[in-house]
Amino acid sequence: MFAKRWDFQTSVTDMRQLPDIGGTEIAFAGRSNVGKSSLINALTGRTGLARTSSTPGRTQMLNFFSAEDTPVTIVDMPGYGYAQAPKEMVDAWTKLVFSYLRGRPTLRRVFVLIDSRHGIKANDKEAMDLLDKAAVSYQVVLTKADKIKPGQLERLEAETLELLRKRVAAFPRIISTSSEKNKGLDLLRAEIASLA
Ligand code: GDP
Repeated sequence: MFAKRWDFQTSVTDMRQLPDIGGTEIAFAGRSNVGKSSLINALTGRTGLARTSSTPGRTQMLNFFSAEDTPVTIVDMPGYGYAQAPKEMVDAWTKLVFSYLRGRPTLRRVFVLIDSRHGIKANDKEAMDLLDKAAVSYQVVLTKADKIKPGQLERLEAETLELLRKRVAAFPRIISTSSEKNKGLDLLRAEIASLA
């Protein structure tokens, strides 16, 4: 069962600040503006739990959310792919994210969010390369599915699965969602609950 009452636990900018390893962790990653905060808020039923981080240059943090009635912790990873991100910012993102991915045995799966209108882009591939390298299981979640026609969505799901076929750590099932239209959220909640 997916927990009902989620709360902010902590923010981490450095691996030394990571909270004690408890139960299971799952994380959300994606390009800035992909709809990550909207999805986390819709899943947990808490408006404003995850805040949009679309200001380039903002401190990059891992945000942890927990609930009393579940051993699952949700981790909101910093967005990537800002158009004008300076190299130091990209390097800082890679360093924080990679050290987290490598050093967190309780991390069961990373949900990589992909905007249905755009599909997988070069920086999504780079993020997936890191996940493959760290050998952390990841699953693609398409966001904003309300923005494209059902036929287009079906094609995109098939094309995306094909792109993932040779990736070692990719989970071979895609979940299509819309935070706005409440689509696919129960499926994603069930997937998360099954990892506990
Ligand atoms: P983040 O930067 O990844 O956290 O993205 P946000 O959650 O802030 O969303 C970015 C923009 O996409 C906002 O304008 C949202 O209103 C919009 N958005 C997010 N989810 C959906 C969705 O399911 N459907 C539609 N149509 N728009 C969405």
